Amino acid sequence: MTGFPLPPGSIIGILGGGQLGRMSALAAARLGYACHVYAPEADSPGMQVAAHRTVAAYEDRDALARFAGSVAVVTFEFENVPAAALEALAGLVPCRPGLAALATCQDRVAEKAFLGRIGVPVATWRAVETEADLAAAVAELGLPAVLKTTRLGYDGRGQAVLRSMDDLAPAFARLAPRPLVLEAFVPFAAEISAIAARGADGAVATFDPAENRHAHHILDLSFAPARVPEAVAAAARAHVAAVAEGLDLIGLVALEMFLLPDGRLLGNEIAPRPHNSGHWTMDACAASQFEQHVRAVVGLPLALPERHHDAVMRNLIGPEGMAAWPRLAATPGVVGHLYGKASARPGRKMGHATRLLPRGALATMEDAAALGPL
Ligand code: AMP
Repeated sequence: MTGFPLPPGSIIGILGGGQLGRMSALAAARLGYACHVYAPEADSPGMQVAAHRTVAAYEDRDALARFAGSVAVVTFEFENVPAAALEALAGLVPCRPGLAALATCQDRVAEKAFLGRIGVPVATWRAVETEADLAAAVAELGLPAVLKTTRLGYDGRGQAVLRSMDDLAPAFARLAPRPLVLEAFVPFAAEISAIAARGADGAVATFDPAENRHAHHILDLSFAPARVPEAVAAAARAHVAAVAEGLDLIGLVALEMFLLPDGRLLGNEIAPRPHNSGHWTMDACAASQFEQHVRAVVGLPLALPERHHDAVMRNLIGPEGMAAWPRLAATPGVVGHLYGKASARPGRKMGHATRLLPRGALATMEDAAALGPL
């Protein structure tokens, strides 16, 4: 087995073929590494830029073993990779992040319990298995509240907002029999996220927190830095650093948070991988989230996460996003990225565009001015 840091030319295995793997593989190539992408779908965004590819199911033990034999380290680009696949690989090759971090982030109950243990506040929550549990939880937490599946939820899937008692039975019928969690509804002033990289040496580097806006439950815009008081930004960085340390993670982790009107932060979701709200780092920082991810995984020291521009990132989603592409690609001061997806289905993340602004400019800008051509 090769020692860390891995020498240039080593092969990094990536589970998952999406755009996060694609952008990680591009960052790896820049540092002299090759990537082997393992995913069930051929011609996925990651596969298109990978030096080596395995198209196989995550349950295919033989393919996983061959994959492990061909790479020096394994990482993943989405957290719904079956834990059993990472478990099978973990005995054969170093996996960064490891199984424990993945398992914590795959289950909302484990995630919230973990955040509570490390001192990151979260919305009040109750685990729900039966309709009686739900009624009891609603009696305690009140309405409105948000009912979520504990596993495999993303972009607003697998959740329902409960506003009146009449909403309970239909929401339960739709989401059960999967294990559920009820959360108090958070009347947030803003949603922000912070990203930390943690190296093999235990060093942690955090990016400036970003302020996120969603449309139809999908991230639409990220403003970086978040327009929040310095103390809030510092608390957000401290929370995500605590998450990276608490998970004993080697790699990258994003923490989504709610900012309350009184300035307090509540942790919502952890993603132990590059995150959509960190795409602005590709163009506004000397080293992007993807470079930090690669550096951590291969055992290189982390780079400085400093931001040299302010940035506004817009996701290019579905046919509307692709329709905006020619204009945005031709606009000076906007940097465009496409993910190589053939069909622009509604709701599909096709790419993103980042508007760069002079450092410090965003703080005093109204939204319309900040967006400019985006
Ligand atoms: P999640 O899948 O947990 O990231 O939730 C998706 C989105 O739903 C969040 O980004 C929020 O906009 C909204 N949301 C989730 N949980 C809550 C909550 N407890 N209170 C208010 N809004 C929420």
